[in-house]
Amino acid sequence: MIAYLDPQQNQTPNPPSVAGDGTGTGTGTSNGTETEPSITTASSDFGGIIHAVPAAVIHPKSITDVASAIRLAGTRHLSVAARGNGHSISGQSLSDGGLVLNMRSLDAKVELVSLPDGKYCADVSGGALWEEVLEWCVKNYNMAPLSWTDYLGLTVGGTLSNGGVSGQAFRHGPQVANVVQMEVVTGDGECHVCSDADSSDLFYALLGGFGQFGIITRAHIPLQPAPRMVRWIRVVYDKFEEYTADAEWLVTRTGPDAFDYVEGFVFVNSSDPVNGWPSVPFPSGPSFDAGLIPVGSGPVLYCLEVVVHYNHQRNDKVDEKVDDMLRPLNYIRGLEFIVDVSYVDFLSRVKHVEKEARANGSWESAHPWLNLFIASSDILDFDRHVFKHILKHGIGGPMLVYPMLRRKWDRRMSVALPESVIFYLVALLRFPRSYPEGPRIDEVLAQNHEIVNCCRSNGYDFKLYLPHYETESDWAEHFGDGWSRFVRRKADYDPMAILAPGQKIFSRAAPLRLL
Ligand code: FAD
Repeated sequence: MIAYLDPQQNQTPNPPSVAGDGTGTGTGTSNGTETEPSITTASSDFGGIIHAVPAAVIHPKSITDVASAIRLAGTRHLSVAARGNGHSISGQSLSDGGLVLNMRSLDAKVELVSLPDGKYCADVSGGALWEEVLEWCVKNYNMAPLSWTDYLGLTVGGTLSNGGVSGQAFRHGPQVANVVQMEVVTGDGECHVCSDADSSDLFYALLGGFGQFGIITRAHIPLQPAPRMVRWIRVVYDKFEEYTADAEWLVTRTGPDAFDYVEGFVFVNSSDPVNGWPSVPFPSGPSFDAGLIPVGSGPVLYCLEVVVHYNHQRNDKVDEKVDDMLRPLNYIRGLEFIVDVSYVDFLSRVKHVEKEARANGSWESAHPWLNLFIASSDILDFDRHVFKHILKHGIGGPMLVYPMLRRKWDRRMSVALPESVIFYLVALLRFPRSYPEGPRIDEVLAQNHEIVNCCRSNGYDFKLYLPHYETESDWAEHFGDGWSRFVRRKADYDPMAILAPGQKIFSRAAPLRLL
């Protein structure tokens, strides 16, 4: 294990078994992740809004190193944050004055594991990026996990601690429903292997558990044969009722009539290059013919995005299949955009966005993002108040809105969700230009606040996804009926409240108690 201590910090602990040259210099890599983040890097996250300086950044190589760091923290009254790729928004991966474990430094070996039912899993590091898992599985075995995030520069342990959603979630469930075994170190420094069959309470506690109960060092992710190609389709709606009716119909289809991916987004009904019509067409295809938009359409429009996997085999019949699947949909005829790309290129699509954002500086600036899950019964009202009113000029980035199914999320997991059979992910992925070219961050945060207040005051069945709260009562409200179980699990697995302090759920010093 290598520990880089900040020479300017006088409260540095004595780290266990220090090795390596200990220069403490952050080393950037071409995929935008750092293998050895410095104290400075580990003091902030992708959100760029909250800053907290750790006492030390530890670079564990193995589960034993993780356990040693947690035990050390136990004796020194320190907290420990696992840092995946630091892509949290509100400081969740930070540890103010405590230890940050750089999960990217764990042994990255991947192994294929065969299951008793003849299927396969990838045994991967909790610090592996999903893009690394994809590359390894496709290159070596032509296989791939079933459920993804849109962006793959996130770690396995990071998304399993939150949820992990994308357009496959309606069909295969979120990433937290696509793991069969985890290796973990709990807050008492003990190592465990857990699954649905063994230590199942710990297994389900970890899934969406915000890193509160243990640090995931390895995970078994089920695989399926990887398709070679995808047909990627975008169609446009002017009426939200028609968009949601079609989207909900699509996510309840099963078997050969189902798409392999269903997502969608809201865009502004104008020629604005970032928020408007140009954000819909694929780069090499036809442009957006605004003349086809019905007269009297509102300030925003909706784009449904669907995908069919295929392999270029005669029995794929992809043209017929896509025609049959698009025919019943009520989108604006003529505003359909279709492109064929390889499966890997489709899954890596946000990489291009990252490249552009890095080039124009908006990747490094602050990201006051807001993610919500909202019941289908409330989504039309939400559209009226929020998309058509508060956000009618756009947000300088994608505004995702697409449905998923409650039954794909096991209730034993820690994740808090709306009760509705169908609920929507609403993701406001803001890439504001720095002030004064862009808005002031406090104004943007105030707008996020206004949106959450709108959900509260209208009594919507909703939850924040990737939430950030400051008070115990807010967390209790977030978890609702699940709060007492969450508190009990904390007492069982991390009784000294050492882990994931940046989530601000439990305080290292405060005694645990049931409300
Ligand atoms: P970090 O931000 O480093 O950590 C997040 C939390 O998990 C922290 O509390 C940390 O302590 C804990 N943690 C990290 N690793 C472990 C571990 N091994 N064991 C236990 N706890 C751990 N989410 C989606 O669901 N779908 C998307 O499509 C999606 N796209 C995104 C695109 C971008 C550009 C960004 C910035 C975020 C996106 N996210 C998405 C959100 C993402 O799921 C969260 O940021 C999540 O935190 C994972 O990021 P990370 O691996 O960098 O974890």
